Amino acid sequence: MKKHELLAHAKPHYEEDRLLELESAIDYATEKHSGQKRKSGEPYIIHPLSVADILIDWGMDIDTVLAGVLHDTVEDTEATLAEIENLFGRDVAFLVDGVTKVSQARAGMRDLASYLPQTKDNLSKLLIAVGQDVRVIIIKLADRLHNMQTLQHMKPEKQVKISRESLEVFAPMADRIGMGRVRVQLEELAFSYLDPKEYRRLENLMRQRLGKSTRKLGIVRTEVEKSLKDQGIKAEINGRVKSIYSLHRKMKKVDGNIDDIYDLMALRIIVESKEDCYRVLGLLHTIYQPMIARIKDYISIPKPNGYQSLHTTVITPSKQIVEFQIRTYEMHEFAERGLAASFHYNEQKSSKDYTKHKGSATLPSHLQWISQLQEIADRLTTGEEIPQEQLNIDLFGNRIFVYSPKGDLYNLPEGALPLDFAYLVHSDIGLHAYGFKVNGSIHAFDKPLENGDVVEVITRKLPQAKRTWLSLTKTTHARNKLRSQLKRLGMLESMTHAAAIIRDKATRQKPNQK
Ligand code: MN
Repeated sequence: MKKHELLAHAKPHYEEDRLLELESAIDYATEKHSGQKRKSGEPYIIHPLSVADILIDWGMDIDTVLAGVLHDTVEDTEATLAEIENLFGRDVAFLVDGVTKVSQARAGMRDLASYLPQTKDNLSKLLIAVGQDVRVIIIKLADRLHNMQTLQHMKPEKQVKISRESLEVFAPMADRIGMGRVRVQLEELAFSYLDPKEYRRLENLMRQRLGKSTRKLGIVRTEVEKSLKDQGIKAEINGRVKSIYSLHRKMKKVDGNIDDIYDLMALRIIVESKEDCYRVLGLLHTIYQPMIARIKDYISIPKPNGYQSLHTTVITPSKQIVEFQIRTYEMHEFAERGLAASFHYNEQKSSKDYTKHKGSATLPSHLQWISQLQEIADRLTTGEEIPQEQLNIDLFGNRIFVYSPKGDLYNLPEGALPLDFAYLVHSDIGLHAYGFKVNGSIHAFDKPLENGDVVEVITRKLPQAKRTWLSLTKTTHARNKLRSQLKRLGMLESMTHAAAIIRDKATRQKPNQK
């Protein structure tokens, strides 16, 4: 990647004066990195320019692209943040600082678990950087992607270490923000280094299988295209091939028998509206026999990272099994680009939508975890201690979606209890919660919610909150709100240190008395 190539790539997307800034950022970074070399022996500047190039591919705003060009200057050269702020403005400096902090936080960490508390200070840095602006994660992902693409120049031990981290930390991070294409790219590269033999074996196996089925699939595709046309549904059909890494994971589930995997190749039908998605589903089910257990409606119940599509697997008259994925252009864009899809080159405003201090309510449900993360970051900033188990639940666990009776979607960590939902909707609703109905039936306070549940909170006029509720909430958010309510109601006496010791002793001396 050279200066003129990057500028040519950027040219159609950004305004004239911002392009001049890009040019001067390139010159600045080139000068700062001069003399430094990558492991391949090429000049170091190739790396930041390639990262910026990836960010343009992803359609990111110009501040992010500038930060991509500058992302290694503060860490690896004598450039300072103040200088960058001076030359390129506060926003760009803020992003560069965030990326630098994430790198520092990461130093010496191997997997998700080690991001956690034994290195509390690093973790806070990471959270604060990421929590304040999600563009920091996006730059980090571009950085990681380019490093993976050029990993062949590293020593084997390094290759394995970096690949494992990509698989355990960065791919899940990409998935969490819905960047499906990047997740797959990272997984494929990482897997090819971690288990090269298995990677090649599966690649060959896949090639053989696809050779056989592509022609047959062509017939199905023509058939479907014709029916869609007859019904007057405008649609685009294309094939999608399963990634090697996801095949590898699936093979374990089917005891290594590739014949039991029905979605090696799927047909993707992209239409203009949600209504059309269901019309197409109906149409497919009239021409082919659906496998009932494999119909999935991720439109009414999106996957926790926001992914939406209808999936169905059908059996054709010639006994071929074909998977279809049906979605709108918008859903397709989100499935591929995720959070990055909310940034559109020059639209400065949209990038601000995902920056600090937006309440949960203003974020789409699949991004509510970002504001939860910001909340935790804020508390860590004030020096508060948050136990490891809590952070695990809030940040790195799986997520579920639940609905309010009105159909509003809420995003919670897996294992969340009804009170977590109540407090997420509103702290007053939490305070006055008397009982819960889930999918129309009474639901106990201690029974976890599940993905897709419709949750109704039954309230009473008087506050219901009690101390025992502290063990009936899982999220930091709910616990936090509840605790301050209990304090206000005088139900959570703030014990003095001395009193605490006395009480502690008393309980220890009478272990059998409860
Ligand atoms: Mn870098």
